[in-house]
Amino acid sequence: MLKIIKNHSLHKHNTFRIKVSAKFYAAPETLDELITILHKYRKPDQHLLIIGEGSNILLTNNFHGLVIHPDIKGIEILDKSSDNVIINVWAGENWDNFVVYCINNGFGGVENLSWIPGSVGACPIQNIGAYGAEVENVIESVTGILTDSLEQITFTRDKCNFGYRDSIFKQELRNRFIITNVVFRLSRNPVFNTTYGRLQSELAGIKKNDLQSIRQAVINIRKDKLPDPDKFGSAGSFFRNPVISKSKFNNLRSDYPDIPAYAENNQNVKIAAGWLIEKAGWAGKQAGDAGVYKKQALILLNHGSATGKQIKELAEKITISVNKKFGIDLQTEVNII
Ligand SMILES: Cc1cc2nc3c(=O)[nH]c(=O)nc-3n(C[C@H](O)[C@H](O)[C@H](O)COP(=O)(O)OP(=O)(O)OC[C@H]3O[C@@H](n4cnc5c(N)ncnc54)[C@H](O)[C@@H]3O)c2cc1C
Repeated sequence: MLKIIKNHSLHKHNTFRIKVSAKFYAAPETLDELITILHKYRKPDQHLLIIGEGSNILLTNNFHGLVIHPDIKGIEILDKSSDNVIINVWAGENWDNFVVYCINNGFGGVENLSWIPGSVGACPIQNIGAYGAEVENVIESVTGILTDSLEQITFTRDKCNFGYRDSIFKQELRNRFIITNVVFRLSRNPVFNTTYGRLQSELAGIKKNDLQSIRQAVINIRKDKLPDPDKFGSAGSFFRNPVISKSKFNNLRSDYPDIPAYAENNQNVKIAAGWLIEKAGWAGKQAGDAGVYKKQALILLNHGSATGKQIKELAEKITISVNKKFGIDLQTEVNII
């Protein structure tokens, strides 16, 4: 039954484990409930925040408006041919449960994206990606509701403005459009994408090449690289890898010959933000309970009772120091609220 909860703790709704609360909170389980909340219960000018599983947000304050957690569940096959399958998935499904569903049914395309935390509804927001794959490659369309007009709109993939950790939903439509369901096209004759270096070496150890072994290899790598969520709060990579011009990169390389970089296109190069942060001396540093993960400096940690403001302050200090050393402006990947 639809409930609007007052003064609801968001502690369990964000993976940084920040202890803040929402003035109003609702978790609609159907499309009708979602529309009812927006239509009947949302007050004019009330701030709105959409939270999926809270694995890509940093909450810096109590939220004085309405938090909506879309909890609509369901996975439906819409069409199947000998080559492809078209699947509609509702926003409240857990992303990795969907990946497992695909692998168990022999549907290829999301195996490299195994073990990414979060909801299906949020996967298009920053075009989740890992180990040489991005979710835009399997998305057919994204459907949702405009929070002001309550109009239901479907964006086909070409209208989503997908980019590196980016989309129209993260930009123009941020908090103005609630994604309710995503339609995916997966392959029934999967072509494996295992060119990513560490994935290749991990698979060599598993000695098999199928959807399940790719998933296992990805999980092995992620377990080794990422902090234990039972011990630390985090939201994965805090910063995006910066994209800089080739000429700027060549200048930097003359001072730092080991700087890791990947060609983005003919003019630009993507630099590993974690390397920049580490070289600026931040790996393993801690200010109170806010810290930088020692094994991967791209990840900021809550060691226990850090506030969102403390983590934000740490991120700002890192940004200033990286800029001073390398002349590069880091942009956050995490949504700071
Ligand atoms: C340990 C760890 C590892 C990670 N690894 C990766 C990785 O490898 N690759 C990667 O790309 N990301 C990674 N992430 C980030 C995160 O998993 C993804 O961004 C994920 O898609 C966030 O899903 P969520 O449901 O938790 O979104 P939330 O954190 O709840 O929300 C993220 C943003 O999306 C908005 N939003 C959420 N749901 C909706 C909706 N239904 N409609 C409209 N807006 C919505 C929110 O308002 C917010 O701005 C990692 C995070 C962690 C904690």
